[in-house]
Amino acid sequence: APRLILVLGDQLAPDMAALRAGRPGDVVVMAEVMAEGSYVPHHPQKIALILSAMRHFAEALREGGWRVAYSRLDDAENTQSIVGELIRRAAEFGAGEVMATAPGDWRLRQLLAECPVPVTVLPDDRFLCSEAEFAAWAEGRKQLRMEFFYREMRRKTGLMMEGEKPAGGQWNFDHDNRKPAKADLFRPRPPRFAPDAVTEEVLALVASRFASHFGALRPFGWGVTRDDALAALDHFLRHALPRFGDEQDAMLAGDPTLSHALISPYLNLGLLSPMEVCLRVEAEWQAGRVPINAAEGFIRQIIGWREFVRGIWALEGPDYAARNALGHKRALPAVYWGGETRMACMGHAVGQTRDMGYAHHIQRLMVTGNFALLAGVDPWAVHEWYLSVYVDAFEWVEAPNTVGMSQFADGGVVGSKPYVSSGAYIDRMSDYCGGCHYRVKEKTGERACPFNLLYWHFLLRHRERFAGNPRMAQMYRTWDRMEEGHRRAVLAGAEAFLARMEAGEPV
Ligand code: FAD
Ligand code: SF4
Repeated sequence: APRLILVLGDQLAPDMAALRAGRPGDVVVMAEVMAEGSYVPHHPQKIALILSAMRHFAEALREGGWRVAYSRLDDAENTQSIVGELIRRAAEFGAGEVMATAPGDWRLRQLLAECPVPVTVLPDDRFLCSEAEFAAWAEGRKQLRMEFFYREMRRKTGLMMEGEKPAGGQWNFDHDNRKPAKADLFRPRPPRFAPDAVTEEVLALVASRFASHFGALRPFGWGVTRDDALAALDHFLRHALPRFGDEQDAMLAGDPTLSHALISPYLNLGLLSPMEVCLRVEAEWQAGRVPINAAEGFIRQIIGWREFVRGIWALEGPDYAARNALGHKRALPAVYWGGETRMACMGHAVGQTRDMGYAHHIQRLMVTGNFALLAGVDPWAVHEWYLSVYVDAFEWVEAPNTVGMSQFADGGVVGSKPYVSSGAYIDRMSDYCGGCHYRVKEKTGERACPFNLLYWHFLLRHRERFAGNPRMAQMYRTWDRMEEGHRRAVLAGAEAFLARMEAGEPV
């Protein structure tokens, strides 16, 4: 009897484990289902990107000789859930068994485990470090630190290595990175891909089914095939990689993408592989076209951070996304869904998220993430927001970044201290503050930058937890040295701000 081979929307590589296990006569099952499109209100561009990429990939599989049973969202027989479609297709083809590649989402792993048609789940080996290898590395360590994991991955892959030693004599060149950026009209913009007929059909479908979701559907410029993804990578290598290190942490009101790659959706969908991307970056450095700090910094994001957070997600298990170590309970303020705001930085970060489904790392971490953490927003609500609004968001990568790195809700598994800052950091790294209602230099009073107020409010709310942290003790000493009246004014200002926010007033 034929078997079914399940290919999920973020498993669009011809060498996925389940496809490699295929035998002649097996049927590939791909399904667009309402359950996946709506368990959180995904950004319309995210849904369109996934559906169009799935349709293109199914076509490529057919051309490669596969039998593909493809369920479109608007097919009358569609049961609108993954398990429902497996049951329906098993009956249709007389199949008694399903081969699947492990989903990057605990909810789906659980659903497959309960599927009445038996499912064999194979490890997803698109990662350089398997779940088992990561668990072995983590075993017995008191703290998991990305930097040490990264060195192991450098040794394992041989990327930018000279024998046993890192190229250039250092593992990490970040002291050369992270500068503010200047507006530059000639900085090349990332490529945009004009929708083809398949994408246009999907765009019409998404417009009719998901109109209520936050985010603009058009203009839609994401690539939807492997060729598009390769073109995006080529463009990045040639035009943006040389400045990637320098501009990695900078933010500009008029330039939402700076020198970032915008390849996370392609990596996460399977259209690019992490190792091929890193080999191309290494080759640019070897050819002398990009500086070592840019190449090393970029490779670290992929074989370091990306693999590290995936390992943590797998290790920590299904309850991870619901953690709330700091006991934060506030509702997510309206500004995250495009509500009016007087904070220029939040307006820009949320605005480009609405328009493109994209914000770069520092906007996610030090603007929207920092604000939610300082304001004490329920990390589950923050998690659902990030999972919804970014085109690259899938649980295995989004949850550790949000719940762990950005909200410290895992109590310190991903990071050893919370990523919090006052307005000074945003002012140094961006040009946002000049156009803001609030004044970044003011520490008290009506117009004081909210980050300045909430920063201290946060530290004092959690004094017991953080005062003993050697990397934070200095901040508490600074606070204690401030004049009493000033301290009272800061805290009263923070309380007043939070009360306005809770009352639903624009902040
Ligand atoms: P670049 O800045 O050009 O970086 C290159 C690549 O490195 C990225 O494409 C990505 O694959 C990888 N990378 C860099 N940092 C990380 C990281 N911390 N974790 C994993 N991969 C990384 N990334 C996602 O892919 N999906 C998410 O859902 C996601 N959610 C995030 C939520 C929060 C709160 C934060 C702080 C970060 C999140 N990230 C997520 C990580 C990072 O912000 C994005 O990978 C990056 O912005 C993608 O844009 P880019 O391709 O232009 O990245
Ligand atoms: Fe953001 Fe404060 Fe700067 Fe305004 S002043 S843009 S709120 S950091």
